Amino acid sequence: MSTTPKMLRFVSVGQQMPVKRQPAERRKDFAEIYSAFSASKAAEQAGRCSQCGVPFCQVHCPLQNNIPDWLKLTAEGRLEEAYEIAQATNSFPEICGRICPQDRLCEGNCVIEKGFESVTIGSVEKHITDTAWDMGWVKPPAPPRELSASVGIVGAGPGGLAAAEALRRIGYQVTVYDRYDRVGGLMIYGIPNFKLEKDVVARRARLLAEGKVGFVLNFEVGRDASLAALRAEHDAVLIATGVYKARDIKAPGIGLANVRPALEYLTASNRKVLGDDVPGFDDGTLDARGKHVVVIGGGDTAMDCVRTAVRQGAKSVKCLYRRDKRNMPGSQREVFHAEEEGVEFVWLSAPEAFLGRAAKSKRAGAETVKAVRAVRMRLGVADAAGRQTPELVEDSGFELPADLVVTALGFDPEDVPALFAAPELAVTRWGTIKIDWRTMMTSLEGVFAAGDIVRGASLVVWAIRDGRDAAQSIDRYLSQRIREDARAVRDLSPMSV
Ligand code: FAD
Ligand code: SF4
Ligand code: SF4
Repeated sequence: MSTTPKMLRFVSVGQQMPVKRQPAERRKDFAEIYSAFSASKAAEQAGRCSQCGVPFCQVHCPLQNNIPDWLKLTAEGRLEEAYEIAQATNSFPEICGRICPQDRLCEGNCVIEKGFESVTIGSVEKHITDTAWDMGWVKPPAPPRELSASVGIVGAGPGGLAAAEALRRIGYQVTVYDRYDRVGGLMIYGIPNFKLEKDVVARRARLLAEGKVGFVLNFEVGRDASLAALRAEHDAVLIATGVYKARDIKAPGIGLANVRPALEYLTASNRKVLGDDVPGFDDGTLDARGKHVVVIGGGDTAMDCVRTAVRQGAKSVKCLYRRDKRNMPGSQREVFHAEEEGVEFVWLSAPEAFLGRAAKSKRAGAETVKAVRAVRMRLGVADAAGRQTPELVEDSGFELPADLVVTALGFDPEDVPALFAAPELAVTRWGTIKIDWRTMMTSLEGVFAAGDIVRGASLVVWAIRDGRDAAQSIDRYLSQRIREDARAVRDLSPMSV
């Protein structure tokens, strides 16, 4: 028997990510950029973990995943057990392993990060669950018994799906409504393929359908049914509709054709990769091929836009951001990937106006953008949150040529009470749905909410956490109602008099 200790190998074994494809190759397609770990490499990398008594990686994972345990089991080659532990706290571990900003969450807080570089937690989590899929260990929800109570979920993004899975496992009758034609929310139409291939999401949707979760697609609550109608149909309702209203830039020329919001641009690209006909793309408007592209913003959505433009064959891709690299909100890992792929960052700069070029003919349509006039910024005093406020540098204007401008300044919630014809649904001053965080219930009895529509634009892993928490609360709520109904029936029965 080998006496080599399986763990604590960070001193002798360096950090290694799975093989990353070369930028020149990545630029040509939309496939994921990392290949899979081999079983031996996953075991070796998992074995670097020092099995901390107080694992900060776990504390900083929104799902409080039992990371040290599944790393140890992976190091020992016991992948089926590792999968059992990974899936006990995470509805979609292979998705989080791919797209969580690990540098800000688990890995960024790994204690060996300082000096030895963190354990590659996300890649191991992905390896465990991809292996589980290959081996047939991932099973549809199979409840021990069917319950008659039904739950309607509005939104088939990660929040809604995590709740659907958890509720179905208990035995509730679950129907998920979505206005899109596919299941997955932003995991399908927002996040590009090179971060998360769509088959990975589609197989989850198939598994839920096999477990008898009902999906009603192309169904928009507010248009095809009111919230009141859903409440009448179901014993409880969960709202998990995400946030989609793009934040505006107030600058002259913002209305020019070819100045487009990020999600419109990314959705068109994702649909194209999925093989759909996309009129706005097919007519060239949302296709970056052969164009000078300027993306405005410094978050992860902006990174997805610049990297999409590179893959579409843009002539040049520039990212304009008003702070510097250190102060940008996006993941540093994503910025690094973008730089590798040839994106040019124009730090400390903000757009002042979008300059137009008259259409050649009436048939050619509206005036289009030809350049962005920008100004330089410097970082001034810190605000209440400790973030330095950008200030304008006088007389610093300059122009960047642009045939397509994509604005990626974040998202706000739509007016849900108005859309759902439910004025009594309380919202916060930011327009997100107000909930009691102990129960996830909104101001309406039996109506719960989860994910971005509660938190504002956030992360897949937080939506999963909320969806799971909401499922637990819905179960408590419905169980109590079932008990109360049973008591009422007993009290009315002649036997009890
Ligand atoms: P969503 O995923 O937005 O799903 C909401 C669903 O509700 C949608 O399917 C929508 O069609 C449906 N819906 C809305 N209104 C209605 C209605 N009236 N009737 C019926 N259906 C409705 N997070 C990460 O963790 N990692 C990343 O790398 C990452 N990259 C991102 C890239 C982009 C471009 C964007 C925009 C976001 C990214 N995020 C990322 C954030 C992440 O996608 C979201 O935080 C997460 O998807 C929120 O989940 P959700 O279930 O709350 O909402
Ligand atoms: Fe890290 Fe995300 Fe996995 Fe948690 S869910 S361990 S934060 S990759
Ligand atoms: Fe292992 Fe790092 Fe987590 Fe410690 S913090 S248990 S070393 S992964």
